[in-house]
Amino acid sequence: MKSITKQKPFDEIEQQLEGLDRVYIIGCGTCATMTKTGGREEVLDMKDRLQELGKMVTGWTVIPTACDDMTEVALTENGGDIQSANSILVMSCALGVHKVNSYIDKPVIPALDTLFIGMEDEPGCFHEVCAQCGQCVLGQTAGICPLTACHKGLLNGPCGGTNDGKCEVDREKDCAWTLIYQRLEAQGRLNLMRKYQPPKNYQVTPSPRSIKVA
Ligand code: SF4
Ligand code: SF4
Repeated sequence: MKSITKQKPFDEIEQQLEGLDRVYIIGCGTCATMTKTGGREEVLDMKDRLQELGKMVTGWTVIPTACDDMTEVALTENGGDIQSANSILVMSCALGVHKVNSYIDKPVIPALDTLFIGMEDEPGCFHEVCAQCGQCVLGQTAGICPLTACHKGLLNGPCGGTNDGKCEVDREKDCAWTLIYQRLEAQGRLNLMRKYQPPKNYQVTPSPRSIKVA
């Protein structure tokens, strides 16, 4: 499972770094490396572009997994270069940005937009698998999430537009509810297609979400 990101347009990064002339760059060796948005290559490319812009890049690193606790160790090891900077540009998903922000008292700027939690189908192709709705129905839908796989996010499908197993919104895409039907049929559980799924109760997931594990 990966946190899927895309790089922000460079002029947006430039705008965020306005008035910040000494930059330390942090990449991520896990998800952002896989999606080619914040691995070593992209970090070095960003370094060149910032230098062309007249910024001083005081240093850079690619933390193995920017969102985990080892981030603190990596930042301590690079403390001198970080001290010399007046801003940190983070090329990881928002989880890594939060993590870095919790250890550093300098402006922490995200270079990426975080899109979704996804799986890789084939090299370089990712699809969303979970919108973290808080009330999972995968047990009734043969492991296919109707919120992310169906273009309309239907909890009770299919809609009237499915045609030859394809989705009416995107003819290139398989209809999620046809896939659910086929998998349930293969499992001998087609009766679940008739089971009404009530609307989700979004009151049980107020924002911001938090939980205390006993
Ligand atoms: S129903 Fe879909 S969005 Fe909700 S928790 Fe399950 S996989 Fe995630
Ligand atoms: S055709 Fe299928 S995937 Fe597309 S919106 Fe309708 S039920 Fe969802």
